Amino acid sequence: MFLPALDWQPEPRLEPLHLDWLARANVEVAVLRLDQIDSLVSGNKWFKLLDHLRAAQEAGAEGVMSLGGAYSNHLHALAAAGERFGFATVGLLRGHPQDTPTVLDLKVFGMTLHWLGYEGYRRRHDPDFWAPWQAQYPRLWPIPEGGSGLPGAKGCMTWATSVSAQLKGLGWDDYHGWWLPCGTGTSLAGLVLAEAGKRPVYGVLAVPEDHGVKPQVEKIVEAAGLADPLYELLDGSRGGFARVDADLIAFIETTHVIELEPLYTGKALMLLKARVEAGMFAPGTRLIFVHTGGLQGRRGLA
Ligand SMILES: *Cc1c(COP(=O)(O)O)cnc(C)c1O
Repeated sequence: MFLPALDWQPEPRLEPLHLDWLARANVEVAVLRLDQIDSLVSGNKWFKLLDHLRAAQEAGAEGVMSLGGAYSNHLHALAAAGERFGFATVGLLRGHPQDTPTVLDLKVFGMTLHWLGYEGYRRRHDPDFWAPWQAQYPRLWPIPEGGSGLPGAKGCMTWATSVSAQLKGLGWDDYHGWWLPCGTGTSLAGLVLAEAGKRPVYGVLAVPEDHGVKPQVEKIVEAAGLADPLYELLDGSRGGFARVDADLIAFIETTHVIELEPLYTGKALMLLKARVEAGMFAPGTRLIFVHTGGLQGRRGLA
């Protein structure tokens, strides 16, 4: 059922990023364009799904069900993949029925939607949460919200391979670290595993610091058996998840050489500018910025 999806191996492109504040500090950045792997199945969410789809294939499932909000990049990638590759998808949504641009796409992609309300959605971590849904959809494989956990992280490890394969094309012989936005920290954990202590991974939190990203990353790193992970989490949420302010909007508008959205990628690059200008990186430093996608979700915010 999932073989066509698992056979699809998109190669994200690595592109130089030219910005005056980088040039002034003599810091070089290349962007790994996960946002451009495909017109519909896009961003880090596709990679986080891969190992879950492998498990679904092994279980002989006919489709998958998962959770998300009305702007969810995760459900969007999942529904688009289901339509593209021919497996059934069910989405369990937070809140009450509404037609955001994302939800309208989910319907077009043929995802079956159930709205859980806010109370019902809060129960998603309960041990018996999936039981009634598995009773209703015995042939579907459940995937946790956002495709998190070790399986989600493993799917992101290939980014390191993609970067290594494209370094020469940039005229680089090596790089000094990664910079990317974090929601659950699953993507960051994948890179931490791929680097295995070789180069640092800097994660910019899109959520407040008390959201448990660090324990989540530690859990994945431990489950994978990596002894000395090298990463740093930085607070970049600017007052809360999805909190948008005028300075952020102005930054995104001025940075027109690359399309950004305000929840993740905009905040991450804006914090990089602040840190570069504060001298966090020595002249000559070369960094990989991961464009994690999310541009579809931006439609609802404009
Ligand atoms: C979900 C998402 C993230 C966060 O990824 P995690 O693996 O949960 O840290 C970052 N950027 C975008 C655009 C996302 O949609």
